Amino acid sequence: MAVHQAYRFALDPTPRQQARLSSAAGGARFAYNWGLALVKQRLDQRKTDQGVVVPWTLPALRREWNRAKAEVAPWWAENSKEVYSSGLDALARGLGSWAASRAGTRGGPRVGFPRFKRKGRSRSSCRFTTGAIRVEPDRHHVTLPRLGQLKTHESTRKLARRVEQGTARILSATISRSGGRWFVSFTCEVQRAQRSPRQPAVRVGVDVGIKHLAVLSTGKVVDNPAPLAANLRRLAWQTRQLARCQGPRDPAGGRRVPSANWQQAKARLAKTHARIANLRQDALHRLTSELAAGYGTVVVERLNVAGMIQNPRLARAIADSGMGQVRRLLTYKCRWNNGRLVVADLFFPSSKTCSGCGTVKAKLSLAERVYACEACGLRLDRDLNAARNLAALVETVEVGGISSSKVVVAGSGPETENARRGGARPGVAGRSSKKREASGPGRDGHQTGTAGSQGSDA
Ligand SMILES: [Zn+2]
Repeated sequence: MAVHQAYRFALDPTPRQQARLSSAAGGARFAYNWGLALVKQRLDQRKTDQGVVVPWTLPALRREWNRAKAEVAPWWAENSKEVYSSGLDALARGLGSWAASRAGTRGGPRVGFPRFKRKGRSRSSCRFTTGAIRVEPDRHHVTLPRLGQLKTHESTRKLARRVEQGTARILSATISRSGGRWFVSFTCEVQRAQRSPRQPAVRVGVDVGIKHLAVLSTGKVVDNPAPLAANLRRLAWQTRQLARCQGPRDPAGGRRVPSANWQQAKARLAKTHARIANLRQDALHRLTSELAAGYGTVVVERLNVAGMIQNPRLARAIADSGMGQVRRLLTYKCRWNNGRLVVADLFFPSSKTCSGCGTVKAKLSLAERVYACEACGLRLDRDLNAARNLAALVETVEVGGISSSKVVVAGSGPETENARRGGARPGVAGRSSKKREASGPGRDGHQTGTAGSQGSDA
């Protein structure tokens, strides 16, 4: 099966290469902002003159840019032309998403009109779709247009191996900066062998939690990665340090030049944030890979992450455990493994229901770590109880239980099923909620242009 997959590697650029990477990202941002200013200006003009043409697509924006670049950016030749195209492409997509969102042809949360990007505030990135894009056979270097050979921090063997075997074709490369470090991400078309779960007939319920990373209905407890707690303490300490330095805001609320100490403290803090994100990401990847490879059916809860983050006491812990991530990762990993992912409805009371007799408690405080059922006397770890309820949910669906609610089945294809465990809160299925639909792995899959495709000619 052919899938779009991204391979991301940290880079170890020389100071000179760092400057060129910054220049590329800056060029993309410049073209984006220039294009946005032009679109706004033309939209204004059109209010009085209907004949004014607004460049709305990438080809139209490119034409305008090529006409104007000598004047507005005489230094344009310093970067690959892909750099500017990348910025304009991002703008064209933004405009397209806004228009589609407004017309109601686009799902998900409402998309606003594109906004200007600011250095240091917006993500620095740039995408290359043509030219010399490849991973070098030594597995420690990559080549990008104009930037030449860049050393990677880690081995590229996972991708290099596939490219050599002809099971991966590089479609594009994106450079980006985060946590004070440069990365390259290759979007590839990968031929994956169709796998099957080790236990195709077994279903597992997963309660993604705060205290532990996850509790499975099998009774297995997956702990948070150990270094996370230490890094969180460091984060708190570094945040206080930063607050003590002279920042960009003076006490009166005006702007001032931040001190060198502040800059340093900020860089340190960014690094810790990146470290925490990496630790968490790694743990979630391990968990979801294991689940997808092991079980025929995985059941998770659809969590109202956006709504929960508004609860300040829980905010950090929940943001930490990355609940939305688990679902996003499982969506494609279950597909790759021929498994099935079932997402329970937002209002399915997995924590409040007794996994023994099905009684639903009216109230269950977060402090109650043990579920104690008054009806049947069952006493069980709260998270394990929830995981078992999730696992049991599938049975109800498969038997054809009373169906009135939403259960999304994202397994072998983009199919949706509706079903609900009998008796639980009818009539709420259609209620709008602040759920965040994370995009799948193919988010960057819609490429424009053609890549200097290593692999196809290898
Ligand atoms: Zn009970």
